[in-house]
Amino acid sequence: MTSAPQEPHRVVIVGAGFGGLEAAFGLAGAPVKITLIDRRNHHLFQPLLYQVATASLATSEIAWPIRYLLARTAGGDDAVCQR
Ligand SMILES: Cc1cc2nc3c(=O)[nH]c(=O)nc-3n(C[C@H](O)[C@H](O)[C@H](O)COP(=O)(O)OP(=O)(O)OC[C@H]3O[C@@H](n4cnc5c(N)ncnc54)[C@H](O)[C@@H]3O)c2cc1C
Repeated sequence: MTSAPQEPHRVVIVGAGFGGLEAAFGLAGAPVKITLIDRRNHHLFQPLLYQVATASLATSEIAWPIRYLLARTAGGDDAVCQR
């Protein structure tokens, strides 16, 4: 008798801030599928917000698409952005 192939566990991370991204990066290479959920479609590097407010940086220098960042993780196949 053959058993059905086991699907890898799916890890769902809510929030693609510093904590959520670190969790996703830390799981890179683990035999799991990762779903990262955020209400925005981009990660915001909050500590540099004031530099945008003072026109020292462009917004594109402190915010990156979550899907782009998640592509760095082996199992990170899914980014869900909720409104
Ligand atoms: C202007 C500024 C400067 C700062 N400077 C520093 C500094 O110099 N050094 C330092 O250590 N810390 C600094 N901080 C604090 C630091 O940015 C936070 O401690 C850090 O972002 C917390 O990380 P986090 O992952 O817990 O939350 P966040 O980075 O805030 O991420 C939370 C994520 O969850 C998402 N989310 C929230 N609710 C929902 C929901 N209901 N559904 C879906 N998604 C949701 C948000 O969209 C967000 O992407 C600063 C903060 C600010 C605002």
